[in-house]
Amino acid sequence: MKDKIQYGNTLINYNLEFNDRKTLGIKVHPDKSVKVYAPQESNIDKIREKVKKKASWILKQQDFFLSFHPLTPARKFISGETHLYLGRQYRLKLHKKTEESVKLAGGYIHVCITNIDDKKSIQRLLKQWYKEKASYHFKQLFNDNIIVSKRFYEGEPQLTFRWMKKRWGSCDKNGKIHLNIELIKAPKKCIEYVMVHELCHLKYLNHSSAFYSLLDEIYPDWKVTKDRLERLMV
Ligand SMILES: [Zn+2]
Repeated sequence: MKDKIQYGNTLINYNLEFNDRKTLGIKVHPDKSVKVYAPQESNIDKIREKVKKKASWILKQQDFFLSFHPLTPARKFISGETHLYLGRQYRLKLHKKTEESVKLAGGYIHVCITNIDDKKSIQRLLKQWYKEKASYHFKQLFNDNIIVSKRFYEGEPQLTFRWMKKRWGSCDKNGKIHLNIELIKAPKKCIEYVMVHELCHLKYLNHSSAFYSLLDEIYPDWKVTKDRLERLMV
């Protein structure tokens, strides 16, 4: 069921689920939604009281998840339409050609294709192009920034990337950093921020205050960059 509490000026909405457990559990997801798990038959006022006690922790968790939104939602894949690449807008120019290709030139993204009305294929070609660009730039940024993790991580961090629906990046306990290919549409500084954020997770796999101290130290202007990424959209 849906429920909420008031904490100062802030309303915290959450989904409440009852299940077989002995204590109350709270989870904050990357999309900032909150889930509260309570033992069967717990009293709703008691639950609210407990959630209230954890409110500042919940807000802190929410604040530090990067809210994810696709940078170019609902494109039509027609000539003249703008598409983002490394933080800049480029217009799409479609060319009827027998050989398929995508090229960046003169402020345009040129797409050569046999049928310029075939939106699915244009989308497929663009995704492929973004993926190639991501592969090149992410690897370069990774090599430039991996040094920050040397003093707190002994292993050899690995970089992978793929299209993700809900987040910009993640880090797992095996030392693997996963980046969303969608990030190639953002300025390099923003890609670098997400990367450094994930590298800091090699030391702390959570958003604890120790994690933030480390991030503050390594990347002092991270808040500005995070805001920039969250505001970016065509
Ligand atoms: Zn994180």
